[in-house]
Amino acid sequence: MERTYDIIVVGGGLLGCATAYQLAKRRAGRILLLDGNEVASQASSRAACLLTRARTKPALMEMVQETYDCIVEMEHLLDEQLGLQVCGSLTIASSAASLKGLEALEAAADRFGIPNGRISRREVKRLLPWIEAEAVGEACYMPTDAFIDCAVLCSAYARSALACGAEVRPNTRVKAITAEGGAVTGVELADGSRIAAGGVVNAAGAWANLLMRPLGVGLPFTPVRSHFWITGIDKERFPANHPFTVIPDARAFTRSDVGALIIGLRESECRAFDPATLTDKLEDFDFGRAAEWQVLDECAPLLKRYLPDIEELGIAHYVAGPSCYVPDAMFVVGPVRQYAGLHAVAGCCGGGVAAGGGMGRLAAELILGEEPFVPPALFAPDRFGEVDPFSPAFQKRCAEARSNKKGG
Ligand SMILES: Cc1cc2nc3c(=O)[nH]c(=O)nc-3n(C[C@H](O)[C@H](O)[C@H](O)COP(=O)(O)OP(=O)(O)OC[C@H]3O[C@@H](n4cnc5c(N)ncnc54)[C@H](O)[C@@H]3O)c2cc1C
Repeated sequence: MERTYDIIVVGGGLLGCATAYQLAKRRAGRILLLDGNEVASQASSRAACLLTRARTKPALMEMVQETYDCIVEMEHLLDEQLGLQVCGSLTIASSAASLKGLEALEAAADRFGIPNGRISRREVKRLLPWIEAEAVGEACYMPTDAFIDCAVLCSAYARSALACGAEVRPNTRVKAITAEGGAVTGVELADGSRIAAGGVVNAAGAWANLLMRPLGVGLPFTPVRSHFWITGIDKERFPANHPFTVIPDARAFTRSDVGALIIGLRESECRAFDPATLTDKLEDFDFGRAAEWQVLDECAPLLKRYLPDIEELGIAHYVAGPSCYVPDAMFVVGPVRQYAGLHAVAGCCGGGVAAGGGMGRLAAELILGEEPFVPPALFAPDRFGEVDPFSPAFQKRCAEARSNKKGG
């Protein structure tokens, strides 16, 4: 048995690292962060990195704001720039249904004080040289939206946690979360050794339910494939730092990437994965590369209205990874009531880069018994009652949450 810790965080992705930072900066005792791979090497190195501020649910806007606040705070703490790109965003509506969604988003942004305003087609074309302006019905510009390299952000959380006294151990796989008499006692590592702790936070991303299964607990989410394509370089049409777009009528988002365009497309029936089929490293997992062209066949015609020569654009890269979706499209943060000392931070619903700072803050506040900054019931792991994340029926509900997603 190694030395005892107060809290062990399992998972060194955005959610685990943000939680470790929020705990360490509150001086929550001896904190150990463990990851079976390198820190920031799994889902958290594959995101499109949009930090979309406006959401129709106020608690989510609070959580995203916390991420922006963490970025400023960590830049001071680490004495370095993290490369936040404040490019602004454009949400485009060309149908009655998406206009209704746009109005709801604007109202939410107004209530929260997020700058936003409608702009003309001419102005849209000036900001986005690649767009067919005639296809744009209405466009709302939010100039303070930004993106950030997600691996840089994740490693900043980890290094800030270290700077505040936490320990970080990469390449250390947890075999099991250990418990006795209804309370967690620590973790058992893959090599059979044990580390004792009064508290364990399960932030193991797409793998989190594999650690819960032997404890007889199901967290209410499952990994669902998220993906985007990156075009070849064309610096005139895709200038660096032009606003990212959200186009619900095309089931698409875009953002600039040093002279190329990142195109995210959401198919009408998203694909969920049984967590039991995951490999330890995403590099070894097949996200259905063969289906990539089917998705393009379904989705590209919708985007063609806005990007008429989409078929001629050379595609340089395809990036796929797991986003963990929850049936109500909210996150999973809080105590796992069956075991004293066990907490979960998971179920990012494709928003862990944007909301990770806030998810970590809520987790830390609940662990330390502080007043939570957002209503915790919205995120409670047990809000669906008992669920079986390994059942195809439940996985289908989670996939539908992504299929029905409208925002960025
Ligand atoms: C294609 C794509 C695009 C995305 N775009 C955006 C976006 O634009 N904006 C946004 O906000 N979000 C986006 N996301 C979502 C974002 O990537 C996730 O919300 C975020 O990375 C989740 O972080 P995580 O810590 O839960 O998962 P991960 O980064 O996967 O971290 C989990 C960690 O747990 C470790 N682990 C697992 N099991 C064990 C074990 N037994 N022992 C020890 N360690 C273990 C793993 O090694 C891993 O490092 C996107 C996701 C994808 C896939």
